[in-house]
Amino acid sequence: MVPNGDDRALGQLSLAERLARLQAGVTDAAMAAGRPASDITTIVVTKFHAAGLVRELHALGVRNFGENRHQEASAKAQELADLPEMTWHFVGQLQSKKARQVATYAGVVHSIDRPALVTALSVPRETPLDCFVQVNLTRDPARGGVAPNELLPLVEQVLETPALRLLGVMAVAPLDEGARSAFARLKALSGEVTALAPDADRISAGMSHDYREAIAEGATHLRIGTAITGNRPVPG
Ligand SMILES: *Cc1c(COP(=O)(O)O)cnc(C)c1O
Repeated sequence: MVPNGDDRALGQLSLAERLARLQAGVTDAAMAAGRPASDITTIVVTKFHAAGLVRELHALGVRNFGENRHQEASAKAQELADLPEMTWHFVGQLQSKKARQVATYAGVVHSIDRPALVTALSVPRETPLDCFVQVNLTRDPARGGVAPNELLPLVEQVLETPALRLLGVMAVAPLDEGARSAFARLKALSGEVTALAPDADRISAGMSHDYREAIAEGATHLRIGTAITGNRPVPG
């Protein structure tokens, strides 16, 4: 039985219970959207948490982990190199000079948001690096992501880069707009991308508080932190 309390109860649940509760929520939201839950990958964002938490989650069956800072991600990937079948997803803003290092441990980069980053990652690889182009759904250029009107040229650049394999689009919902309408705009932009690249049909959207809205608008990759990990420690 999965407890179904509100967020106040979150801290009292065990890690396994929070994971099960989130997975049940994903299944419910997928059913409500008429989508198979198997279409949806849940990435557990473990930023600021110790490597031990990743180990516990791995023992519970989690294989997809998200991090947003290179130094921390790289240290965890090294410390946890013994864990089988791990995929690290890099979900944070990425400096061009760090990009090649990130590509050594990350299986997927969600935050391609400018031409210089594509150039930095354009180095010969055995298998192309899976990536998402991040779109900025806010009016604040300081938030990560390419402006919607610059999305298609950036997508074309990624498609011309053999070292990269485009999975689709990624976004974070703005704070000042309902998540559902923001994710609907992302879905429309995804349609423009798939018109160019039919295989790039994945959508990375949805966090702890808006994953249901993201699933309703076609998200295939959820990036879930606190709903599973509990509150994050203060970053070091
Ligand atoms: C931290 C983070 C998340 C997870 O956020 P929660 O609200 O804890 O679920 C998702 N995406 C990105 C880009 C993040 O930095």
